[in-house]
Amino acid sequence: MENTRCFANRFSDYKGALLPGQGAEAAVPVVVASIDKILQTVPIDLSDCDGGLYDGPAGVAYMLYHVSECPLFSEYRDVYLKTAKQIIDMSVRYVDAEPDKNMRAAFLLGGAGIYAVAAMIYKSLGLADFVKPLTKFRNLWEVCAPIHFLECGSDELFVGRAGYLCAALVLKQKLGIEDYVRKGIQHKNLSNEICRATRCGAAHGLSSVLQMLLSYQDMLSGAEKDLVWQSVDFLMNQEQNCNWPAELGAIIERENELVHWCHGAPGKLRAVNAHHPVPVPWFRKPQYLDKCIRSGELVWQKGLLKKGPGICHGVAGSAYVFLLLYRLTGNSKYIYRAQRFAEFLFTEEFKAGSRSVTRIYSLFEGLSGTVCFLVDLLQPDQSEFPLFSVFV
Ligand SMILES: [Zn+2]
Repeated sequence: MENTRCFANRFSDYKGALLPGQGAEAAVPVVVASIDKILQTVPIDLSDCDGGLYDGPAGVAYMLYHVSECPLFSEYRDVYLKTAKQIIDMSVRYVDAEPDKNMRAAFLLGGAGIYAVAAMIYKSLGLADFVKPLTKFRNLWEVCAPIHFLECGSDELFVGRAGYLCAALVLKQKLGIEDYVRKGIQHKNLSNEICRATRCGAAHGLSSVLQMLLSYQDMLSGAEKDLVWQSVDFLMNQEQNCNWPAELGAIIERENELVHWCHGAPGKLRAVNAHHPVPVPWFRKPQYLDKCIRSGELVWQKGLLKKGPGICHGVAGSAYVFLLLYRLTGNSKYIYRAQRFAEFLFTEEFKAGSRSVTRIYSLFEGLSGTVCFLVDLLQPDQSEFPLFSVFV
């Protein structure tokens, strides 16, 4: 029976050599052409700026920033950054006027992410103005500090506190301005809420909340850390054959299981590895790396997804799992697998059989995320899922 969610992976597996013809010489023109295509479709009107970093124009600005940071694209740096600034300036104007302050505080869907990316782009351009969006970002902590500031669950990644913390982590990583944003963050609200979360996926549920808590564990008390680790163990124990159900207690149906960043194994991998740079808990739980590796096998089998090229529930999101596993293990097999997934994105089979994406320019569902992946494949030692690092 044909799998409705993914293409069959007919690629032979790694036999000791990476694919030829995927070096910078071949890949840079492909990336540049993809960016040209994206820029032809991204809206340039203030009224079309909704969707935040997830699927709004702001995600394109982030992609341009990311590409401009890569030395292989130095000749394009100026023009990409200038375009990024035009797009993010428009997004900032849009979100400044957002009447719902909770949406202004949202990371992937609202203002917090847009302000953070604006600060990064301004800084790259050498503009002292980067302090302005940074100040707007910092002031948002007051919005998301009250424990139930959202009705839909105040802790998740897209619009809740985990998202705010994630944006702060990106700022720490890219701008080195940790204390500037950390002072106002109330982590305790987050850890109190852990046990209430009932959805498991990275995008909306427990795993991204836990990842953020692990990323800030130096700010937690001993008892809170124990609670976080108990929750991590609990989540890991929900595994069913290298995957995790989208909701606690659900039974995964093997034939058509979800293997997405937003639901299922790929996003979970990142959650498990959030503590990687912290050696003590990492060695306390060596079995987590084994779980990651085994989940990576599932992604190799079922990760050629039919929902488009993107990073949220598409082929590039699956391929980011291999780049993460490469960084964790140093095994070139994972670069090879990522190369195969990159290759697949340009096949007729993929073009003919994958679902069309409404906003093809978008960072999470469309080509901007794919471009980030293709660039990261050229620099696998620095690769990381966009805006969601586990190596800070
Ligand atoms: Zn998704």
